[in-house]
Amino acid sequence: MEIKTQVAIVGAGPSGLLLGHLLCAAGIGCIVVERQSPDHVLGRIRAGVLETVTTDLMRELGIDQRLNAEGMVEGGFNLATHDDVIRIDIEALTGRHVIVYGQTEITRDLMEAAPDRGLAVIYEAANVALHGIESRHPWVTYEKGGKVERIDAGFIVGCDGFHGAARRAIPAGAAREFERIYPFGWLGILADVPPCHPELIYANGDRGFALASMRSPTRSRYYIQVPLTDTLDDWPEERLWDELEMRFNPLSEHGVTRGPALEMSIAPLRSYVFETMRHGRLFLAGDAAHIVPPTGAKGLNLAASDVAYLSEALIGYFRTGDEVALDNYTPRALARIWKAERFSWFLTKLMHRFPEDGAFEHRMQTAELEYVASSRAMQTAIAENYVGLPL
Ligand SMILES: Cc1cc2nc3c(=O)[nH]c(=O)nc-3n(C[C@H](O)[C@H](O)[C@H](O)COP(=O)(O)OP(=O)(O)OC[C@H]3O[C@@H](n4cnc5c(N)ncnc54)[C@H](O)[C@@H]3O)c2cc1C
Repeated sequence: MEIKTQVAIVGAGPSGLLLGHLLCAAGIGCIVVERQSPDHVLGRIRAGVLETVTTDLMRELGIDQRLNAEGMVEGGFNLATHDDVIRIDIEALTGRHVIVYGQTEITRDLMEAAPDRGLAVIYEAANVALHGIESRHPWVTYEKGGKVERIDAGFIVGCDGFHGAARRAIPAGAAREFERIYPFGWLGILADVPPCHPELIYANGDRGFALASMRSPTRSRYYIQVPLTDTLDDWPEERLWDELEMRFNPLSEHGVTRGPALEMSIAPLRSYVFETMRHGRLFLAGDAAHIVPPTGAKGLNLAASDVAYLSEALIGYFRTGDEVALDNYTPRALARIWKAERFSWFLTKLMHRFPEDGAFEHRMQTAELEYVASSRAMQTAIAENYVGLPL
């Protein structure tokens, strides 16, 4: 069967669903194709800290009832050494805040709103392939129910994450890649236990980096830095809880509460930018074009700013035929992406133990953290990046 639409979106993660809803609300025809099932998409536990750029889009769409009711407004966060906690009062320093609300919940809200709003999402689409992206009539094919289907579109947008098909459809000579792979990963645990502290704590202690985070007043998310050679078999739950108690009991208000893991996983850390976000009639948005280490919580929020820029450009094009905004999408998005890459890299360098570092680098980290503790200017620089730079 052949389907025709204005925009074919590959990937139904947060960037694909957000873009689909924004285009749909502007009366632009679009179809989203996703390789996984809805349950699989919702099973991925990832981001939890939302900047205004993300919450504003949800509000603009009117898909914000649960976000308003359940999102936790956070006016600060903490950087800690083994025994000192430096509170970054983001509200006092910037007049703004962030909202703690899980990526899973955002995705669920966007997913559930799709049928009522006429946003077509095709799940479990196998072997999605992009064709004719350098022509004015690109198309997407996929397999479902034993048949090959085809979607003809004016544009294709690759929102299919780091391992997707869209970025690979762009010829190597048409783009530049920038990458930094970090020599450790984050071991995460999600559990229905109250958080140990009212606000996030990023800690750099003698035993390495750890993060105490949360998804709600009754659901905690913790991470610790682990060598890339570690697997989940190395970390029975009790070993991880012991480690978290050691790290956070001296630093937190309530101490760590243990509970059965709802999820445990190890994520590698990487900084990556693919420098072009447009090739012919194909655009990239979100993790398909860039990755940040999770330190500083920028990934989902960058996906949202890409989508804000791209939806504006596509809506302008379909209303007035204006090609300029489409041409400007790559430089406009990259300007914000590189600043978020810098902040995530800076915070990763400041808060982790790098295997190659010696005593000098540790003293540098200590000196920098002491400077953060004593300087309002430094705290303001951190706070304004943390709440998100303007669009
Ligand atoms: C452990 C961890 C913690 C994080 N914490 C934060 C945080 O606190 N704050 C923050 O802002 N960010 C955070 N991030 C980053 C954030 O999760 C990502 O930036 C975000 O998911 C990007 O959304 P996306 O829609 O671009 O990509 P994805 O969420 O990766 O979605 C891509 C979608 O495309 C689908 N797909 C892939 N290939 C194909 C194909 N060939 N055909 C069709 N569909 C395909 C996938 O199944 C997926 O559903 C974290 C990430 C990790 C791993």
